[in-house]
Amino acid sequence: MTVLYDLHTHSTASDGTLTPTALVACAAEAGVDVLALTDHDTTEGLAEAASAAQEKGIRFITGVEISVTWGGQVVHIVGLGFDPADSTLQAGLARLREFRNWRAQEIGIRLAKHQITGAYEGAKALSNGRLISRSHFARFLVANGYAPDMRKVFKQFLTQGKPGHVAGEWADLAQAVSWIKEAGGQSVIAHPARYSMTRTKLRRLIGEFQEAGGDALEVVSSSHSKDEVFTMARHAKDFSLMGSAGSDYHGPETPWANLGRLSALPDLVIPIWRNWSVETEAEPV
Ligand code: AMP
Ligand code: MN
Ligand code: MN
Ligand code: MN
Repeated sequence: MTVLYDLHTHSTASDGTLTPTALVACAAEAGVDVLALTDHDTTEGLAEAASAAQEKGIRFITGVEISVTWGGQVVHIVGLGFDPADSTLQAGLARLREFRNWRAQEIGIRLAKHQITGAYEGAKALSNGRLISRSHFARFLVANGYAPDMRKVFKQFLTQGKPGHVAGEWADLAQAVSWIKEAGGQSVIAHPARYSMTRTKLRRLIGEFQEAGGDALEVVSSSHSKDEVFTMARHAKDFSLMGSAGSDYHGPETPWANLGRLSALPDLVIPIWRNWSVETEAEPV
């Protein structure tokens, strides 16, 4: 039987809508054998997910999705199988969360100038006092009738050039890779086909990532078409990187990303889990 891997998921510790426990239950239900929780810029949900996974008898891999600024754009780097107690990693993530808190207030101020009041408070309430993300603003705006759905709300309010967009400096690419490596983990460029980049720029990103010690490309992602899966597999191969697979599941409200429902990794790439042994498995934290 094939082992089902899902190495990119979110919980209420960042912008997912299921608690870590509920996410693990859904993953087990969906037949996932090996699950990583990769919340944005926080490892807060890992302990709960690890114990839930132990209970459900599925393998759990520690994870995080780090926000990086590269080439004037935001790029996401997934870290897998690291020690969440690592202090350099935690200090780096804490800085990113501080920026998130400041940015959230700034988004609120800017939306208020566009006659949208209470957005900061609304988004903050939806984040339940945990990490705050543009997704929380998006949900607030949709719930209050400012836009019909998540896709449109981002397009109208929360992306570059729009009223609720605030640019900022996230982590440096090489820095994010080194935090993960120093903490004993492996790093992956998340959903590489989703960046608005030319092929040349994407290959420059992959080259710099590889030079910095990066390990893999997320070849299989819910957001990738069949063609993109093969193109990304080709890029991974060209740069001697391994391939990873993850749904980027944020909860049942986002039906395009389904837990564990992923296509197979093309044969030409080495799966990131090829040499995983028991040591990569997270100890209950
Ligand atoms: P942040 O990291 O706070 O800037 O928020 C980025 C998050 O917003 C991503 O991780 C996605 O979950 C979500 N997101 C970004 N763009 C879109 C979109 N067009 N539609 C739905 N969700 C989006
Ligand atoms: Mn997200
Ligand atoms: Mn992402
Ligand atoms: Mn993600």
